Amino acid sequence: MAETAECFVCDGTEPNYRAQRCEKHDVCVQCGTHRSKITEIPWGHREGFRCQPCDRANKAAARDGYDSSEHDDTEERDRIKCPTCGYEYQPEMEDYRGDGETHEDDCPNCDSPMMVTTHYTVEWSTRKAGVQ
Ligand SMILES: [Zn+2]
Ligand SMILES: [Zn+2]
Ligand SMILES: [Zn+2]
Repeated sequence: MAETAECFVCDGTEPNYRAQRCEKHDVCVQCGTHRSKITEIPWGHREGFRCQPCDRANKAAARDGYDSSEHDDTEERDRIKCPTCGYEYQPEMEDYRGDGETHEDDCPNCDSPMMVTTHYTVEWSTRKAGVQ
């Protein structure tokens, strides 16, 4: 076998950025299902991969864990908050739209679609007239 990669699970070491796993330890980070038993293309993970059933279970748990009736659709925040699971995240470049513009996005945490509206606040500064 040409596979010479070290396995951090076998070695009992902290996974580094490559996070190499041997054939035996090529399993879902969450449920331990081996890659050969996975039927759907799994999600990449820092320490290997996560299978789709686990990913779906996590997203369902995220949605169930938040009382979305508590969500205030009119509250303006400096971060984006998912109205379905309550997850808050930093806006990305593509989220900076024109004032009052609304676009649809999927929550990175629970995958639910949401409408995101950009708001700009206006501020003023002053200095004495005639002074540079
Ligand atoms: Zn191993
Ligand atoms: Zn899994
Ligand atoms: Zn969400």
